[in-house]
Amino acid sequence: MAFRTLDGVNLQGQRALVRVDFNVPMEDGQVSDDTRLRAALPTIEKLRQGGARTILLAHFDRPKGKVVPEMSLKPVVEPLSRLLGAPVAFAGNCVGAEANDAVHVMKDGDVLLLENVRFHAGEEKNDKDFAMALAVNGDIFVNDAFSAAHRAHATTECLAHLLPAYAGEQMRLELSALDRALGQPERPVIGIVGGSKVSTKLDLLKHLVTKLDKLAIGGGMANTFLFAQGHDVGASYCEKELAETAREIIRLAGQNNCKLFLPLDIVVAEKLAPGAPARVRPVGSIDEHERILDAGPETVERLCRAMDNSRTLVWNGPLGVFEMPPFDKGTVAAAHHAAELAKAGKLVAVAGGGDTVAALNAAGVTDDFTFVSTAGGAFLEWMEGKTLPGVAALARQ
Ligand code: ADP
Ligand code: MG
Repeated sequence: MAFRTLDGVNLQGQRALVRVDFNVPMEDGQVSDDTRLRAALPTIEKLRQGGARTILLAHFDRPKGKVVPEMSLKPVVEPLSRLLGAPVAFAGNCVGAEANDAVHVMKDGDVLLLENVRFHAGEEKNDKDFAMALAVNGDIFVNDAFSAAHRAHATTECLAHLLPAYAGEQMRLELSALDRALGQPERPVIGIVGGSKVSTKLDLLKHLVTKLDKLAIGGGMANTFLFAQGHDVGASYCEKELAETAREIIRLAGQNNCKLFLPLDIVVAEKLAPGAPARVRPVGSIDEHERILDAGPETVERLCRAMDNSRTLVWNGPLGVFEMPPFDKGTVAAAHHAAELAKAGKLVAVAGGGDTVAALNAAGVTDDFTFVSTAGGAFLEWMEGKTLPGVAALARQ
């Protein structure tokens, strides 16, 4: 999809309303992880260099349309200013006199952060009056928050229709990476979908089998597929009522020439506890009180060979209960293999999902992947093939 960027835009003296993702982890009123602040720097720097006045819009947590002092964006000012090496002004309201006055005194190159947009009910309602109250302070709108793009809110959607709207640098990076993985991928393209439940990833699986050449299913959800094929799953986590749905997905894969990889062997244990005695078994061979907690070595080996024969990988969901060693082995081994291929330029490796990011971080491979999305819900909706309203609003006509 083609979208408008800031390239070639005359920024001098322009008031740029910039939607960023500053929904950062905080501990005791202090930013405890500044990843998202750093992600916003390229856009802010580009705007400053161009002589624009940067007015940052963001949400924090879920104040549900009311002023909740604990959910103020104020604690972001100091660490952002430090990262930027420049002062960052703050206004205690994103609309009205306080915001207008703060914008009015800005000079070219200045940066101003406005208070939590979700303090106003109009934000989540995508309310036009609220968006217009924001728009009076901008000449252009820049969206740099892919992670909020699956929501049609005033600062992700409506505002983009009131002002000339552009994708920021982080948004552009994310969209290009995602396009390389599923939009216009180099083929063959392989997917890995794991995690706990089939029920939360039905749309994802149904869409992916129409897009991918190969799809490996792992994690707890693979148990439902094994059960659907008549294998005994013992005491494993399994959504038995979804057996027919699993068979439908298997049929869909066949119709779309998507080769499905279900586990060949499994790692089982009687208890889900750290260091619990684990056994490797072929699928179907399990005692009634045993649980499947990871992919077996043969399964992982076959998955690695399938990656060797692919050009693109898109991954969501761990292959096992990675939080609890030794059940992280399958996920870690597959992650290392993907990272090596990516580093060697043989594979475009893109991954996303809250727990997937945690698993890749734990495996220490995040930097070697082509792209790891921290966008959560937006990443999943994109993988489901849905149109994200915040991205659609930036489409080049
Ligand atoms: P993401 O957040 O990346 O989208 P999910 O939330 O779908 O991933 O899945 C992650 C969870 O799946 C982890 O908490 C992990 O422990 C769990 N999981 C993986 N394999 C199994 C399994 N065999 N049995 C039960 N839970 C599993
Ligand atoms: Mg999760």
